[in-house]
Amino acid sequence: MDLRQRVLDLARAYRRAQAPLTPARLAGGVGVHLAYGRMPEGRFGAWMPEQNLILLDPQAPLRRQRFTLAHEVMHLLIQQDPDLLSELHEAYAGKALERELEALCNLGAAEMLLPSEAVEAAIARKGQTPRLVLELAEQHQVSEEVAIIALAERGPVPSLVLMAGGQPLRVYFSARHPSIPDRLSRGLGFRREDPLAVALETGLPQRAEARLPNHAQTYHLEAYPKGGRVYAVYKARLD
Ligand SMILES: [Zn+2]
Repeated sequence: MDLRQRVLDLARAYRRAQAPLTPARLAGGVGVHLAYGRMPEGRFGAWMPEQNLILLDPQAPLRRQRFTLAHEVMHLLIQQDPDLLSELHEAYAGKALERELEALCNLGAAEMLLPSEAVEAAIARKGQTPRLVLELAEQHQVSEEVAIIALAERGPVPSLVLMAGGQPLRVYFSARHPSIPDRLSRGLGFRREDPLAVALETGLPQRAEARLPNHAQTYHLEAYPKGGRVYAVYKARLD
């Protein structure tokens, strides 16, 4: 079984065992305490093994805190699974290992908070559209990051999903289906003529054949501006 599938199974089993997923139950299931305190810039939470606690930033929005907590819990669940851990270390090393581990913890956290059946049902009704990021987040009271991860993982066509904002426009968060090779880092900027920048400036959704910043591959892009941010789905071209 592949690593992603095993992480999803871990997350589902944990969701069932710990339901209802209050913060205390989320942390308690892996035997750690929860504490709140200021985090360094750009971080929302951390697992502190020496003190056996997960530290969360109380300033972060509640849904974001919940996602961060679930992400840190996934680190512990993976840590406590020797088979999974050794497979991970066989397949990856160095920076690639760090990146893969972070992606797996995000994937598991999203599955914990937003069951894949709910995501698949929403996609079946509405299609693989960036509007679903907002709809799923609202309906299931999860952070937009969670909805982005779920949409990238569950879409019928492999895709990269992101939200961007700021002036100049830059990537806030992105997730990609495992078969999408292009990778985006947080903070990466868009050119002024990019369809995402146009969507934000005009307030109008955009559809285009577009490339990701710094990449050559073209995708079917749908971009949706809302509340000073742009949500985008880059679908792989199957033709
Ligand atoms: Zn992490």
